[in-house]
Amino acid sequence: MPTQRDYYEILGVNRNASGEEIKRAYRKLALKYHPDSFDGDKKDGEKRFKELAEAYEVLSDQRKRQRYDQFGHEGLRGAGLHDYSNMGFGDIFSMFEDIFGGMGFGNAGTVAERGLDLETEVEMSLEEVSKGMEQTLEFTRMDFCPTCHGRGAKPGTDMQRCSTCGGYGQVQQKTQSFFGVAVRVTNCPDCHGRGEMAKESCEDCDGTGRTTRQQEITVHIPAGIRDGQVVRVRGQGEPGKVGTRRGDLHVYVRVRPHPLLTRRGDDLVCQMPVSFPVAALGGKISVPTLEGPEKLDVPAGSQNGDVLTLKKRGLPPIGGGRRRDLHIQIFVEVPRNLSDEQHDLLKQFAKLEGDNISQRRKGFLETMKSYFRGKSKDKQNEADDATDNDTP
Ligand SMILES: [Zn+2]
Ligand SMILES: [Zn+2]
Repeated sequence: MPTQRDYYEILGVNRNASGEEIKRAYRKLALKYHPDSFDGDKKDGEKRFKELAEAYEVLSDQRKRQRYDQFGHEGLRGAGLHDYSNMGFGDIFSMFEDIFGGMGFGNAGTVAERGLDLETEVEMSLEEVSKGMEQTLEFTRMDFCPTCHGRGAKPGTDMQRCSTCGGYGQVQQKTQSFFGVAVRVTNCPDCHGRGEMAKESCEDCDGTGRTTRQQEITVHIPAGIRDGQVVRVRGQGEPGKVGTRRGDLHVYVRVRPHPLLTRRGDDLVCQMPVSFPVAALGGKISVPTLEGPEKLDVPAGSQNGDVLTLKKRGLPPIGGGRRRDLHIQIFVEVPRNLSDEQHDLLKQFAKLEGDNISQRRKGFLETMKSYFRGKSKDKQNEADDATDNDTP
């Protein structure tokens, strides 16, 4: 889940910090929170470490930083940020290898078995949740260069074995660090782990075989999904090393609050004001459902807080099955700002009501009477006790 904290705050730099300042801040803090060196709570350290990587990914990229400055976190939707939540420390270190190069952390050399995961977000209404939807997502991702198909060679030219790594794609580095001597294996810097190099580099990708590309895919979001859940689309992340599978795309779902209906599990609840005469006499009211307004019978004598249920007007469970219900809780409005005529009518009503008092109120009044009768007896006893104490 992407962080909602301010990226500048995370890195502790001000908003006009230069690229170099941002890099320095990131390097310093990432080393502080790395599990090999962080003294505090490991879970907390890991969270901070991943937040830092996310902040650095955005602020170190001109285009992403601009979008963030202008629109905040919202602006990065579909920008193809990496999903750090499932990434190991080693993966994160190797992503920003130029910054940590030679630091010699024990696990920094482990390279992801497959391509990295990306994340994006969709927002949907409750109406869409009830039916599920096909959402077309546009996002950018690092992908194979279309000109050279990832080979890095100018079309029509040959490849040759990389002389730096002898075709292995990886090189060993022995480094002296403040944690002792460490041997780490990293991707060969010259062939980027491929073991071979172009005789002549592809001009579109500078021989790296990768370019940033705009993607468009359609994702099925199942009915009944909840706010904060993730739809994982396999194989739509970044390509990994040759011969490994692509990473995944994680689509975070945001469900917009509905102005009238509240979700409780898969049930929906609506709090609905009802006029005093309708509650007393009964009547039809129009209630909101996800399919539009619907007529509902309010029985005569409905009380404040009573719940009326509309079957199958709630949401479906996420795995499929019968739709749940919509509960209408009524709030009886006591009339205000009465006209003279209404006022007189209610006075008359009050006079008549004396003969027609409800069982519930009768019971309440009787309990109250006997309760306070008892209280006043107790009071009398207390007073007697007090006098006893005063005169031993
Ligand atoms: Zn290319
Ligand atoms: Zn090489």
